[in-house]
Amino acid sequence: MLAVGAGPAILGGGGLRPEITKGKRFPLSERRCKGMIGALDIGGTKIAVGVVDANGRVLAKEECPTDVPLGFDHAMQQVSEVLARCADQAGVKLQGIGIGCTGPVDPLTGTLGDVNTLPGWKGGNPVRKLSAEFRLPVAMENDADAAALGEVAWGSGKGKARLICVTIGTGIGAGVVLDGKVYRGVAHSHPEIGHHIIEASGPPCSCGARGCWEALASGPSVVEWIKTIVPAAYPSQDQTAREICTRAQGGDEWAQRAVEREAYYLGVGIANIVTLFVPEAIVLGGSVMKSASLFLDRIHQVIRQNCGLVPSESVEISLASLGPDVGLIGAAQVWRNRFQSSGD
Ligand SMILES: [Zn+2]
Repeated sequence: MLAVGAGPAILGGGGLRPEITKGKRFPLSERRCKGMIGALDIGGTKIAVGVVDANGRVLAKEECPTDVPLGFDHAMQQVSEVLARCADQAGVKLQGIGIGCTGPVDPLTGTLGDVNTLPGWKGGNPVRKLSAEFRLPVAMENDADAAALGEVAWGSGKGKARLICVTIGTGIGAGVVLDGKVYRGVAHSHPEIGHHIIEASGPPCSCGARGCWEALASGPSVVEWIKTIVPAAYPSQDQTAREICTRAQGGDEWAQRAVEREAYYLGVGIANIVTLFVPEAIVLGGSVMKSASLFLDRIHQVIRQNCGLVPSESVEISLASLGPDVGLIGAAQVWRNRFQSSGD
């Protein structure tokens, strides 16, 4: 079934913008072909907007602040203007628009749930708004699912039939893709792997539970934990997770303890995924994994220790390869997956 609220496809008919024929970077024949998708990656602090071609290349992109207090309608007006500008810059007509959005969202109706980083936006519907604005088919998924679809199509997960893509940054999100399709729970729900409980008596999590994987192994959790162990005279009380990793590499004992703890908890969560799903591949991305070299040996060690009943050695653990554009590339793939595959 296609997205509720998605308007009729006007393939080759253009959106609200006139066709622009003056491009600089790509030949005319390529610019005018099908497969040019407008892409939005909606997060709590910023919205990335771009145009992605049929080969997963980002032709133009801009970022704008989410400006949550100004409201959903204001944000949609802003991204519509930015998207039209990106299409002009790329010199293309859009075939459709794909969206990855921080959750919870209903991927089939396009309605936003109670997203803690988007207060006041509950009930907003980017699919309906943009479909009406551009007169194009629009599709949306949870951003973790969008990233997983992007990695399956163009990144480290290419060709994998059973893949779980985990993004470890401000939070932990994961998308499950089986035979090219996003796995959904009841009522189109997105399983919250980042909130599976690692330690039942662990620190409280924003979701209301205690000891979630996200509460123990996200970037902010590393920052909070090191504050609980360092002496008062420790020189860097307000460092970021990335800075902690850098200090660990420089020999800082406290930072090394924080990194060891982070590697262990990453390993426990990934080992649980191995035991529960035994996927062909687990792709790891997000800002924390920019320091992956500090964590990978320990992650593999924990998997070997914890996953004795499944062929864990056959589960490929790899790093995401789409880089900072994964949100846009994944969003475009959301559209292709919805409208160019056999459907949900
Ligand atoms: Zn939680």
